[in-house]
Amino acid sequence: MKTTLLTEITVREICDGFVYNEFEGKGLFGLGGRLTIQPEYQRNYIYADGKKDVAVIESVLKGYPLGLIYFNKVAENRFEVLDGQQRITSLGRYLTGKFAIKDDNDIPQYFSGLAEDLQQKILDTKLLIYECEGTESEIKEWFKTINIAGIPLNEQELRNAIFSGPFVTRCKEVFSNSNNANIQKWSAYISGTVNRQDYLACALDWVSKGHIEHYMSQHRYDTTIDEVTRYFNTVIDWISSVFLDVESEMRGLEWGRLYETYHTAPYNAAAISQRVQELYADPYVKNRKGIFEYLLGGEVQTSLLLVRVFDEATKKSVYKQQTLQAEQEGISNCPLCALGHEANRTKIWKIGDMDADHVTAWSKGGATDIHNCQMLCKSHNRAKGNK
Ligand SMILES: [Zn+2]
Repeated sequence: MKTTLLTEITVREICDGFVYNEFEGKGLFGLGGRLTIQPEYQRNYIYADGKKDVAVIESVLKGYPLGLIYFNKVAENRFEVLDGQQRITSLGRYLTGKFAIKDDNDIPQYFSGLAEDLQQKILDTKLLIYECEGTESEIKEWFKTINIAGIPLNEQELRNAIFSGPFVTRCKEVFSNSNNANIQKWSAYISGTVNRQDYLACALDWVSKGHIEHYMSQHRYDTTIDEVTRYFNTVIDWISSVFLDVESEMRGLEWGRLYETYHTAPYNAAAISQRVQELYADPYVKNRKGIFEYLLGGEVQTSLLLVRVFDEATKKSVYKQQTLQAEQEGISNCPLCALGHEANRTKIWKIGDMDADHVTAWSKGGATDIHNCQMLCKSHNRAKGNK
């Protein structure tokens, strides 16, 4: 890859013909139309919180360096911003009157109202720009490794960069668009934020069964995303038809996998709803996030709930009592071994070879206290299962 350092390009030139798309929140063009500020593979504009925008302008006015900016030369006299898009957008937005800075007297100053010498100072500021020229894969490989002042790209932002094209563009219109009215509903089940691509990552994860990059690579040049949206909506509809109440622990669960595993089974939503409430009220349930899969699976896999276990003192006490009695009777201290006809019938196990067991299973209402505790040898405990 060939790189050239450019030191003579000014803010005036960069912002010549600056266009800002209010709806998408991104800067589009500069350098009199020869510069694409936000190529498809760039993240959404994240500076528009009012603070970082202002910080960029204040840095320029104080003569502080803005840091390196990278351009990708895509054709003769045509460039894309590889890194620095947010800084350039802040400059362009200020020059076009999109926000104000505060002066020394705390009075808001738009660019048009600035003293002329300050206007000139901004316009004449020279930026430090690396112009890079290489193949698409070289540029993208390099793009993947840069991690400059701004917020580092997360995994999905990187994938959007690597597989940029019409498919990513269409996906972002639906799943990375905070103006999408469905986001509110989706946020009951999906964690993260829209503009950091968390919803898109989720939609792609579901439809691809976890093979996001493979899927993006296969569909990179598709101009429609029907399969993604159809699958996504199917999963969302399934969740909300099985679970009538929205609980905060539902956010961020592996709904794609749960849908694939359980969607062919019938569920009684009213009964499920009642069980959700009961399990939420059960003090022995330590992991509420596990409640949903536990119910989907027919209340078999208790381990999902991390039901409270017996503490060491209880185990020791029960072991001692059980062993004493077994020795007197000449039988095994594992009550199940004692019932058998094999060599273990009289075996006295060490405490380390035994596990605590609920006599009455937790799922049948058995409590996790000493009166409901028995020690079993490990193999009998395992055989009794995790119920
Ligand atoms: Zn046993």
